Amino acid sequence: MCVLFASLFSLPTYIANSSSLSDFDKRYAQTFLCGLTLCTIIFARMVFKRRILPIIFGVFVLLATGCDGRNRSIIVPETFGLERTTSEGELLRGGITIANILLENRSDLSFSREETDGIAEQQIPVFALSSINLNLSDVMWVPKGCRCVYVHVRGLRRWLDKAQIADGYGDHFDERDAVALFLLHEMGHVIHEKPGALLEFEDANPSENMDKSNSKSEEDNADAFAEGVIKKALASKANDGATAKAVSQNVAVLATNIYAAIILSTTLDNIMCLSPRIYWDWGYTHPNLAYRLVRLANNLAPTETISTALNDFDKCRALSPEYFDALN
Ligand SMILES: [Zn+2]
Repeated sequence: MCVLFASLFSLPTYIANSSSLSDFDKRYAQTFLCGLTLCTIIFARMVFKRRILPIIFGVFVLLATGCDGRNRSIIVPETFGLERTTSEGELLRGGITIANILLENRSDLSFSREETDGIAEQQIPVFALSSINLNLSDVMWVPKGCRCVYVHVRGLRRWLDKAQIADGYGDHFDERDAVALFLLHEMGHVIHEKPGALLEFEDANPSENMDKSNSKSEEDNADAFAEGVIKKALASKANDGATAKAVSQNVAVLATNIYAAIILSTTLDNIMCLSPRIYWDWGYTHPNLAYRLVRLANNLAPTETISTALNDFDKCRALSPEYFDALN
């Protein structure tokens, strides 16, 4: 029994540090180990016949052997039938470099462009993916249980192009700064050990609502993480301070573009908040994207347009469904 427990405790370290196992094999080895640990606990429960003791001991063993479900492993995209690509490499490398500069005072965290080999424990790999088995609405996300970020490069390209043009009213922003912001949002998901995506999946007919959901809270937490990193860097006089300033200014342009595109594609009724259509959330997984960006921009690099937009959002989002029902 002692030999068995000693093996259980030392195996996770052996698996994690093994150079002969691929990350794919490591993940399966870890899953197998968790299953074996669980079987041992059930066996101990049967042998000792006491109710509480084996359960407490079991939870301890599960945590000690790394079976707590945290995002500590890297799941390669091939696991999901996805394919890596080198296109948009310059944009992604630029975004990663900027995000890593902003993370300079967080020496425990950084992104890595190169896939799985040679990634340090604290690095989060960013996988660039082709369109195989993906939709254009898949842009950037953290898969469940993965300490990694997936980017569908065509989805990202389409989203950025739309944001630049903004129905003909867009101002130019540096896309690498936008990518850096998005990556930091995804890092927020990794840090909080929750899966998540940058954007809501496109829905032709989303129902506007102000309902709370766990998923919306996770998104707010991921946004707050990204904002915290940029704000900390903004206060610095070193290289990361100048980078954070540029990122903040580009976020303000991006937010203004997204807001302009929404406002200009709607009717006067909507703008005057006689309908919740553009101000409320457009589904249940994410808070309203324009609201998220406007709020972030207002905290990082406020302008008159941004603070007026934020005011409109806050006023309209505070109104009840009954208020709108009474209007109709
Ligand atoms: Zn997210």
